[in-house]
Amino acid sequence: MTTAAAETATVTLPANAVPSIDPYLMRGLLWCAHCTTLMAPGDPILDTSKGSPVWRLAYTCGGCDRKADAGIVDETVWRRVIARANVRSLAPQYRQWIVRQMLAKVNLTIDGRNLQFLWSM
Ligand SMILES: [Zn+2]
Repeated sequence: MTTAAAETATVTLPANAVPSIDPYLMRGLLWCAHCTTLMAPGDPILDTSKGSPVWRLAYTCGGCDRKADAGIVDETVWRRVIARANVRSLAPQYRQWIVRQMLAKVNLTIDGRNLQFLWSM
């Protein structure tokens, strides 16, 4: 049995890296595979799955109005990014900068359950 080496990228934070407090990590990078439209921060989702209702940040498709839980999307993307770039201890305000260096786009699949990653590095 052979094991393929994991694809990794080296990301060095330059002095001019731009910090961000944007709560939407994937702003400008998340696309709807159903209608190929950019998804943007939209109205929150009311999550009633765990007893008391909680409002959760969401991305909304500008074309077909599909929604995605921003917390789940952002966490999923960040885990993939740190697995690829090995930047585990990076300060949170530089996460968006790193994501923008490494990803060209991410598609929310037609069934809305998965993410397809298009890496730029
Ligand atoms: Zn759409």
